[in-house]
Amino acid sequence: MTGISFEFFPPKSEAAGEKLWQSIGRLAPLAPDFVSVTYGAGGTTRDRTHACVKRIIDETDLKPAAHLTCVAAAKSEVDSVIDDYASAGVRHVVALRGDMPDMGAFQPHADGYTGSLELVAALAARGNFDITVSAYPEKHPESVSIDADIDLLKAKIDAGATRAITQFVFDTEAHLRFRDRLAAAGVTIPVIAGIMPTTNFTGAKRMAEACGANVPAWLADAYEGLEDDADTRKHIAASVAVDQCRKLIDEGFGHLHFYTLNQADLTFAVCRILKLGAAAS
Ligand code: FAD
Repeated sequence: MTGISFEFFPPKSEAAGEKLWQSIGRLAPLAPDFVSVTYGAGGTTRDRTHACVKRIIDETDLKPAAHLTCVAAAKSEVDSVIDDYASAGVRHVVALRGDMPDMGAFQPHADGYTGSLELVAALAARGNFDITVSAYPEKHPESVSIDADIDLLKAKIDAGATRAITQFVFDTEAHLRFRDRLAAAGVTIPVIAGIMPTTNFTGAKRMAEACGANVPAWLADAYEGLEDDADTRKHIAASVAVDQCRKLIDEGFGHLHFYTLNQADLTFAVCRILKLGAAAS
């Protein structure tokens, strides 16, 4: 059976919190393998991420994965977040280097971890965590090549990572090529395909540009001129996400990770139509 997981971000306001908990309430019955909660640039959401993860532990049966980055923090600060996660009952951490708050070139904190590799090693040394890391089918924007990214992924695995989640891509063929390159490079940990179903194509395009994801011409064409037509965008988004997921499943991807952007509708619809998670029973 294809595994599923959902990513949320910690809410900034009470209203956003309500929306998030409605979304969690809607998606929880699908019984995802885990739900992850992001960590804001430069640790800006440290307390909100922690509170959100804690509430998931206290109020639901979901298994949370807490994201953690090493931006703008001394090792001692990051270690105390790790220890706080452990005492709150978090057993799964998504370990990332992170981006600078201004998205400029990464500068490690003078007393901080230098990147994801050291963070993974610290997590592995400090507790019995299940450690997930990132992977980039279309290359990280700062990377010299996909091979360099794969070498880094292998180093993260050697340091203790047990699973990777891919950056979202719209071009499914890129996911398939990446899978083949990972297999050829001897990567055997589960690599979960990241999917971002969204009706906000303008926002998605902006995010894709920031993280180096290709926006295929056929996708841009499909949304062309629909800026004021949210209904049609919603239908297109569902159809695109279903096609993408179906292809990945047919190609043997065993787990899909949905970047929900705290919205349940599309992810719920995709899981229903493809009978993913508890929608299978
Ligand atoms: P890494 O995989 O460590 O490396 C990224 C690139 O940096 C490499 O490709 C390489 O070019 C360079 N690099 C790093 N280390 C070395 C080295 N030792 N030698 C040579 N080159 C190196 N961001 C957040 O702020 N909060 C989140 O919660 C968050 N969640 C994410 C979840 C997923 C699944 C993904 C895919 C990304 C997430 N991000 C998040 C974004 C991520 O922080 C950025 O993409 C960031 O720029 C890279 O962090 P990383 O751990 O993915 O990078």
